[in-house]
Amino acid sequence: MTAKVDITRAEAQGLPMKRKSIALVSILAGLVLASVAVATLEPMSGACPIDGGGMYFTGQTKTVSGKLLYQYKCPQGHTTWVVQ
Ligand SMILES: [Zn+2]
Repeated sequence: MTAKVDITRAEAQGLPMKRKSIALVSILAGLVLASVAVATLEPMSGACPIDGGGMYFTGQTKTVSGKLLYQYKCPQGHTTWVVQ
């Protein structure tokens, strides 16, 4: 009876914490993957302001004044930074 209580206590204190941390890691990993997927699969931002060509996300980002900017490039090599 005593041993059973101890095991139950160990489960109550140990396992849920372990599951919680695993769940947290999974959530974080999911968020990172989702971010990468969004960035990678980001459709064309629109037409190039110079020649009207379709633009694609280059994978480059930068932060200006707390805003995340994404670099887009047209086939002719013109680049522009877009705020999402
Ligand atoms: Zn262009």
